[in-house]
Amino acid sequence: MAEIKQESIYQGVAVSGGIVSGKVFLLAEQGNAPIYKEIPQDLRKKELARLKKAIAQTRADIKTTYLKINERLGENYAKIANVQILILDDPVMRKDIISMIEEGFNAEYAVFKASGKIIKSFDSISDEYFRERSFDIQDVSKRLIENICQSAKQSLAAIDRDSIVVAHNLTPADTVAIREKFIKGFATDMGGKTSHTAIIAQGFEIPAVVGLKNLSCAVHSGDDIIIDGNKGIVIINPNSETISTYEKEFNVWFAEHKELEKLKDLPAQTLDGVKIKLFANIDNPDETEYALKNGASGIGLYRTEFMYFNRVQIPTEEEHFENYKKTAQRMSPFETIIRTIDLGGDKLSKLGLLDIGAESNPFMGLRAIRLCFKYPDIFLQQLRGILRASAFAKIKIMYPMISGLQELRQANIFLQKAKDGLRKEKIDFDENIEVGAMIEIPSAAIITDILAKELDFISIGTNDLIQYTLAVDRVNEDVADLYDPLHPAIIRLLKKIIDDAHNAGIKAAMCGEMAGDPKYTPILLGFGLDEFSVSSSQVSKIKRAVRNIKMSDAKKLSQEVLKISDAKDIEKLLSKSSLRV
Ligand code: PEP
Ligand code: MG
Repeated sequence: MAEIKQESIYQGVAVSGGIVSGKVFLLAEQGNAPIYKEIPQDLRKKELARLKKAIAQTRADIKTTYLKINERLGENYAKIANVQILILDDPVMRKDIISMIEEGFNAEYAVFKASGKIIKSFDSISDEYFRERSFDIQDVSKRLIENICQSAKQSLAAIDRDSIVVAHNLTPADTVAIREKFIKGFATDMGGKTSHTAIIAQGFEIPAVVGLKNLSCAVHSGDDIIIDGNKGIVIINPNSETISTYEKEFNVWFAEHKELEKLKDLPAQTLDGVKIKLFANIDNPDETEYALKNGASGIGLYRTEFMYFNRVQIPTEEEHFENYKKTAQRMSPFETIIRTIDLGGDKLSKLGLLDIGAESNPFMGLRAIRLCFKYPDIFLQQLRGILRASAFAKIKIMYPMISGLQELRQANIFLQKAKDGLRKEKIDFDENIEVGAMIEIPSAAIITDILAKELDFISIGTNDLIQYTLAVDRVNEDVADLYDPLHPAIIRLLKKIIDDAHNAGIKAAMCGEMAGDPKYTPILLGFGLDEFSVSSSQVSKIKRAVRNIKMSDAKKLSQEVLKISDAKDIEKLLSKSSLRV
């Protein structure tokens, strides 16, 4: 009698949307610890030659990976492979390996020991960036050992039937070996939202869940598996009830996906003909493809601080320039709003580049524009890069974390300085470049009328505005239930900010997550929000919400909402309203 396998459910981190079911292909861990052998004195030169040959082969392998990623996903993804070349050529690790071989260690064991030392030194650092680098070191040393020993590699490229790959961790080299035709999804033990697997899976638009801790130890090749990349759930050997639930979920998801795709080229326009701007938020230039594919008609927030992650040197003016030029040209004739760096807060730990001491309250500390004032050279470099790029396509500048007029004026003094410098050097830029500010600190929200007089536009950053207004840490799960966009204090603030902007004759945008949830679209439209900037995957959902509403009804609803004193009652009104989308 066939064995009935037990269903098991794993919760991980959702990194690439969609639902898929199929059979597991378990990518087994390779590279068990090599065995130590003492090399006699007279053979040590030969051992060094073995190492040298393997290094050359490994470099060639990584270059092939680079070319493959570059060809399929573009240079920004391919840079991941460059990090591995840097690791391969790391002088400290190389010196350590060579001196061990000279002492009599066999080459593969010396590589294993030297890389192990570095990996161990990263163990105590609870920083995602260092964790990712530690995977890279593991991957490079694994390849190097394989090339020294010339051992056969198990590869995803060998997969010749529809499969869902489960692995402890997928390296960039593993991931590009995907034959899109056959690999339908990923699930890995390691990784977070910014892991390489996540980045590449999103590029391929394959459902993926990472951070599943010990999944790879619990499954076997051939097991049945469902991956829910929307919710971050993986189910192994689902029972018949789960299968039929997921079949229904898949059908709903697929039908919605298809329906949303049809909206791509349609305008974001209400039933009574009011057009709004629907933009996308991005973290890097490659995401412009995804934004355009999903029907965004501009970039409303380019979070440029992501340029500072995963690197050892501060980006140069030239890099800023090239990056923004490329992004804005790709989006042209649509506009690109570039936000100056918002480093600090929860993005502080990623910053090994600046000497910022431990802060007990990083969200209230040296963050964003405050950090730029402390490091004027970094700020000026970025401003010059943005200005230079503005000569090539439509770009606007936006400052984060402005709390009052003095800060806005001080930021503008830097901008003036950057402009003066370029003029002197006879370098072109858009003399009429528009300047806006995020309204994301309660003090700025309360004085939007004052700030608006010296701005060309504002964009509401609800992620921070809600955190600071309600005193709820946006990344603390224990207080997540208090983080409520429908709190009457937030509702009143939003209305005030939008009115203040309009009274000053400027447009009001929103680029916080609230803009990307269709549940809030009617209220925001009713308040007169001019522009919604949302993650690319939400663009068509917000477009659908806008296209299903009459502006006159949205206005009525938002007026009613303003009279309600309790968030729960607002929620009830929204769920009962026929406008709920
Ligand atoms: C916000 O605070 O709403 C926002 C868009 O900025 P970030 O999430 O980058 O802080
Ligand atoms: Mg913010």
